[in-house]
Amino acid sequence: MNSADIRPTAGAGLGRGGRPCFVRRAASPSSLNDPLDGDIQAFLTEEDQLHTYDDLTKVNPVTPTTVLKCLQARYRLQVFYTHAGCTLVALNPFQPVPHLYSQDVMLEYHCAPQPQEFKPHVFIVAEEAYRNVRGQLHPVNQSLVVSGESGAGKTRMGGAGTGSRGPRIGGAGTGSRGPRMGGAGPAAEGHVWVGPGPAAEGHTWTSRCLMKYYATVAASSSVDQSQDTVERIERRVLDSNPIMEAFGNACTLRNNNSSRFGKYIQLQLDSSQLLVGASVQTYLLEKTRVACQPVDERNFHIFYQMMNGATDLQRKEWKMAHGQRFAWLPASEKTLEEDGFQETLEAMGHLGISAGTQRQIFKILAGILQLGNVTFSTSLDESQPCSLDEESKDFLQGAAELLCVSAEELQTCLRVRTLQAGKHSLAKPCSQAESSTRRNCLAKVTYARLFEWLVTFINNSICADASVWTNFIGVLDVYGFECFGVNNLEQLCINYANEKLQQHFVAHYLRAQQEEYVSEGLEWSFVKYQDNQSCLDLMEGGPVGVFSLLNEESRLNRASDAQTLRVRLEKELSNNPSISWDRFSREPHFTVAHYAGGVSYQIQGMVEKNKDPVPPELISLLLKSDVPLLRHIFSGKDPKDQSSKELSKVTVVSKFKNSLESLMKILHSTTPHYTRCIKPNPDCQPMTFQEEQVTSQLRACGIVETIHISAAGFPIRIPFKDFLQRYGIIGKHSGSKSGGDSADHGLTGVKEACQEVKKLLHVVFQHTQRDLLISLDQERHNA
Ligand code: ATP
Ligand code: MG
Repeated sequence: MNSADIRPTAGAGLGRGGRPCFVRRAASPSSLNDPLDGDIQAFLTEEDQLHTYDDLTKVNPVTPTTVLKCLQARYRLQVFYTHAGCTLVALNPFQPVPHLYSQDVMLEYHCAPQPQEFKPHVFIVAEEAYRNVRGQLHPVNQSLVVSGESGAGKTRMGGAGTGSRGPRIGGAGTGSRGPRMGGAGPAAEGHVWVGPGPAAEGHTWTSRCLMKYYATVAASSSVDQSQDTVERIERRVLDSNPIMEAFGNACTLRNNNSSRFGKYIQLQLDSSQLLVGASVQTYLLEKTRVACQPVDERNFHIFYQMMNGATDLQRKEWKMAHGQRFAWLPASEKTLEEDGFQETLEAMGHLGISAGTQRQIFKILAGILQLGNVTFSTSLDESQPCSLDEESKDFLQGAAELLCVSAEELQTCLRVRTLQAGKHSLAKPCSQAESSTRRNCLAKVTYARLFEWLVTFINNSICADASVWTNFIGVLDVYGFECFGVNNLEQLCINYANEKLQQHFVAHYLRAQQEEYVSEGLEWSFVKYQDNQSCLDLMEGGPVGVFSLLNEESRLNRASDAQTLRVRLEKELSNNPSISWDRFSREPHFTVAHYAGGVSYQIQGMVEKNKDPVPPELISLLLKSDVPLLRHIFSGKDPKDQSSKELSKVTVVSKFKNSLESLMKILHSTTPHYTRCIKPNPDCQPMTFQEEQVTSQLRACGIVETIHISAAGFPIRIPFKDFLQRYGIIGKHSGSKSGGDSADHGLTGVKEACQEVKKLLHVVFQHTQRDLLISLDQERHNA
């Protein structure tokens, strides 16, 4: 038994923040099936009370229906946050709610002795994480894991003042985009607004809001001279947001400002718990979007920002005349995020990206756009490469000029493949399709390297020296579970990441908690939960799993890879219940039973995407560019010097799996805090709560199981030593003395001391209760 059983009485535990509080136990796990029995009928007749449950563990009985009704009742009253035991459920308001996020509100939560008694809020989670670092003898790093589907509010969970799918500028939409926090609305109410200024600042709200929270909290407890550092660091970290969003976010069918990459931000704290720096780790940028945008979706914001914000001089330099059409910039209504060019430039300046480097960045981007307008036609003579279309010649020339490479060499690289046979090289003409693929590949790899370089630059600018920081609070914002009409390797990777996170949650809260109760000899009946291990085995299992088979096929370089992969998957994984095939479909597919539902993946193109080949000739060409930044981002090993065996090992899934494994290691070493963002309707409209939509999201994240376990268990576990340090003062075991005691008496001594304090606590509670009753009686009597 490693931790103290500190329940003051049956059914009570320690509340958030580690203070004793009474928790009500939920109904028995058997009600998971949600029959509309008498209990629920009774519950539903109490409709006017439903909104008062600020923790879903108080709902009785806990069933999918009662949980849904409760959230719905709260949403109707514009209450967007609700606890679900150890997690926080955040419903996306899709409308401005600036009063929720003012600095006054932050300080209220921060200064409260028991913030958990306040209304549920993301600040409670932030404060709890902060106190866990601050108040402990041996602080453990913290992670705030924010999950949910696209548009659920992960990135802006902290409170953006805009409706996402409101009208795009110039469009005829009907949704309304309110002012951003910091705009006219809030100022009129006389608060100190901590959000970004109207259009001028930041898009990312979670990071910004949590950052601001920690900076405020750190500042309030710091001496004056530290204020400068806090401000400077905070400013720089906040400045990284508009840059990363400009380059990594895009308007999709689900979200006008959808993050097309995952990120884990570590806010670094020194030994006095002051914010001294940060670092960002990014995951799987959706680089295919550069050269190929799904129907009715758009390219990354930065391209539109350049188009909308360039001066006449820049237009000339970037070959972006007014009215110029670019194949890779689908024309549709533009979004507000695409207007933030000045903001991006300012942020770049603040972070120390020099004007000269900025110029190089935009030249590279402009070169990519020119490339998109280069097209090819099939040659009549098969021994000849495809031809460059007449109207493309200027664009090819433009691309070469902007990327500062020879136009002739660029054209050759796109139309002719060089095969290496020993010491000899062989020129092979490319078909129209092959040349288009090479063009796209050039754009994708350049953009992805540029993004990587930006992230490294940002990290160099905001990361504190290793000797300065002692602990961190991490914020994880990754793309939610995806299931589209057509799903390919990108969705397979994204959904795999979600499976890993779900497993972490299941392992941390559900399985570990239950197992620990049993090992500590507590009375406990197991709650059934959906374990996704079999799905993970299917995907990552070795030696035979989807990823290993995909990697093998990618290394073999066969012609009809889709068919072979399908046959191999069917043969090798036929016994796995998490995978199935539609044998009658024309296109080869396989369906994976994910924890959040089945997703059918297209096999065609998967092997090629996984290989993600970059023709070495293209890299060699870019290494000769006169743009130093371009040479720099491709510097390192020249592909010509690398063996093809070495290159083929680095597939997309192997890289992604490795980066996820590192992330999971970090998460496992921290205390996690989960926030589940829920999208109440697919149209991103305020005050619209679609039951079916919400139910499926609640089911997908196993909220009912979570509530059962949280309600029936102990929400907080404190190691004996820390418990004594904190509460020892009640008995004779005051903090410092107990430290000495524990060293003298070992664990048994500390446990006994805890028991003593616990008995005393029990007496204190009884007294408090009795005093309360007496004063109530008194009041009644006086009245
Ligand atoms: P994706 O996975 O596509 O990146 P996401 O979960 O990060 O999606 P956000 O971009 O955070 O989604 O939120 C979508 C939109 O919802 C925002 O643009 C904003 O308009 C609205 N929104 C989110 N959270 C809030 C909030 N707390 N208050 C008001 N509006 C919000
Ligand atoms: Mg996002």
